[in-house]
Amino acid sequence: MAAGLGDAGFQGEVVVVCGEPEMPYERPHLSKGFLLGTVARERLGLRPAAQYRELGVELLLGRWVTELDLEQHKIVLESGDTVGWDLLCIATGSSARRLAGFDDAVYLRVLSDALQLRAILESGAQLDVVGAGFIGCEVAAAARQRGSVVRVFEVLPQPMQRVLGEELGNYLADVHRRHGVDLRLETSPPKDLGRSVVVGIGSVPRVELAAAAGIAIDDGIQVDEQGRTSVPGVYAAGDVTRFWSPLFEARIRVEHFQTAQRQGFAVGQAMAGRGDPFAEAPWFWSDQYELNLQYAGAGLAWDATITRATFGQPPFSVFYLREGRLIGVVGVNDRHTVSRARHAMEARAQISPQQLADPAFDLRRAIPRAQG
Ligand SMILES: Cc1cc2nc3c(=O)[nH]c(=O)nc-3n(C[C@H](O)[C@H](O)[C@H](O)COP(=O)(O)OP(=O)(O)OC[C@H]3O[C@@H](n4cnc5c(N)ncnc54)[C@H](O)[C@@H]3O)c2cc1C
Repeated sequence: MAAGLGDAGFQGEVVVVCGEPEMPYERPHLSKGFLLGTVARERLGLRPAAQYRELGVELLLGRWVTELDLEQHKIVLESGDTVGWDLLCIATGSSARRLAGFDDAVYLRVLSDALQLRAILESGAQLDVVGAGFIGCEVAAAARQRGSVVRVFEVLPQPMQRVLGEELGNYLADVHRRHGVDLRLETSPPKDLGRSVVVGIGSVPRVELAAAAGIAIDDGIQVDEQGRTSVPGVYAAGDVTRFWSPLFEARIRVEHFQTAQRQGFAVGQAMAGRGDPFAEAPWFWSDQYELNLQYAGAGLAWDATITRATFGQPPFSVFYLREGRLIGVVGVNDRHTVSRARHAMEARAQISPQQLADPAFDLRRAIPRAQG
């Protein structure tokens, strides 16, 4: 957001207030390379400190906001101090969904959680993972790669079923089992597992401050395609929002790193008075064992799928369609297909089922050339 303000020529002061004490860092490593020990703590940082100075951004770290005072145009900190504003952007992200009876489990969201989990893995302890969504699957993969004995409990019939569907879910279940995970599907975890436990059952948008201030909420702070909330002068960006997507013609909530960055940038530009609507297709990746999964789309319901190349033999991809329109794609070790399909989606390209299925058809050919 701050970078978008700078890009659009904003000349005023930018103050970023954050409860976490660390310099802003990239969370995706926390369930992947950081657990494996291949990404060091120093490599987690989002930008070097000097860049914040160059952008004219003052960072107030380790400071929690307790109230948004929209009348007086100030935010109130836990310490009782206040910070005034002319324009406000709320980017409070999301927090890990809690599971009743599992208060002592690790909920992987921030660096200190990852440090705790890494210490568990280094101790060689046996690990139970509750939830086979992306974070649960990544943690299970990292733990197996570090030699831990791992059980995973998932209430649904397949891992990652909600976004990827049944067929890919089955494929991933096989992948985890082949790597030695004791995967227990359609099973709730017993209360007393007696092992170290990680719970990864999704996240919830941190809307409390905005809700208390009277800003409209609908499973996330409700914003338009430029990040405007229901209150003039107050914007929101990132995981905490449910934003209008002109591309998918739907209000969507996305919890992906790149979308938080790109939408945040667009919101910053809009705050500075020079912005285009954010109309990109969300994209994320996941690393599990030797597999790199990439997904582009808004996680919307589909009515048909088409596979490119041989299902189950990477590289391959699955396209998701609704009423004939491409609305999502997942690639397994097939990042070029995902990247091209993403651009095709954004360009609303017309692609036939035969072209989608044919690995020899370069999806870039379906994208209309820009005019002029
Ligand atoms: C373990 C893990 C792995 C992930 N892996 C991937 C991945 O592989 N690919 C992908 O695309 N995405 C991944 N994600 C998701 C991605 O990290 C998020 O989409 C992204 O961090 C969202 O950015 P954000 O700025 O909106 O929110 P956040 O990163 O949650 O940042 C919000 C910040 O606001 C602060 N805050 C909240 N309330 C207050 C308050 N009252 N006062 C002060 N500060 C406050 C929080 O402390 C936090 O620092 C992963 C997330 C996690 C946790």
